[in-house]
Amino acid sequence: MEPLAPAHRGVSAMAPSIADNLAAVRDSIAEAAQAAGRDPQEVTLIAVSKTKPAAAVAQALAAGQRVFGENRVQEALGKIEAVPPGAEWHLVGHLQSNKARQVPGKFSTVHSLDSPRLALALQKQAAQAGVNLGVLIQLNLKGEASKGGVRDMAGLGALLQTVLDCPALSPRGLMTLPDPGYSEAETRRHFAEVRGLRDSLRAEFGLGPAFCELSMGMSHDFAWAIAEGATMVRIGTAIFGARP
Ligand SMILES: *Cc1c(COP(=O)(O)O)cnc(C)c1O
Repeated sequence: MEPLAPAHRGVSAMAPSIADNLAAVRDSIAEAAQAAGRDPQEVTLIAVSKTKPAAAVAQALAAGQRVFGENRVQEALGKIEAVPPGAEWHLVGHLQSNKARQVPGKFSTVHSLDSPRLALALQKQAAQAGVNLGVLIQLNLKGEASKGGVRDMAGLGALLQTVLDCPALSPRGLMTLPDPGYSEAETRRHFAEVRGLRDSLRAEFGLGPAFCELSMGMSHDFAWAIAEGATMVRIGTAIFGARP
């Protein structure tokens, strides 16, 4: 092959755009879903924009992305104001009860609910704001110190019961982050366990089809998560590039 002219070399060395990355991620989601015999429409892509500027979110929005995830309320609020209308925001990171006031009306969904105290704080604020907030219970059944999440089955049942007693909160499902050191087999087993847990909670608590979400899968493992039933994948790096 002939060496590329300098101008072409310049073009080919350019980093792929956010729109390119999004298209590639959407293709991979569709492929993983089809391989698992699932409809790609069952999987919501959440573009995790933490540490990235509002301009990056605006580019993704212009490329058709609708749902964005942030892990810190404080950082997100400025972006929510700065981005053109049309984005829906999910909180995917740990939330302290004393910050609950800033969530309703800004975020549609919280993936990181992990205590009855936080549920009650969100209930109070959502009711005051006159909105309903979707919540997913974050699991941490291995008790990893570095993350939030419910650590045992008794805590999980008690928290779900609390949410069911909160009329301004809608329980939507479960969220998990597997140990990053897991092999593919271990990661998939973990995802499958969480799916089983969603199904058994649904039966035990008599929950309807709205309790369906499995928020699991990030840039490096979303294909495995989709194979194991993920309905929401939270993808940052593969869309926006590496974080500092
Ligand atoms: C940062 C983050 C993600 C996205 O991780 P990537 O590896 O960049 O795709 C997903 N979920 C949570 C909770 C995060 O904090």
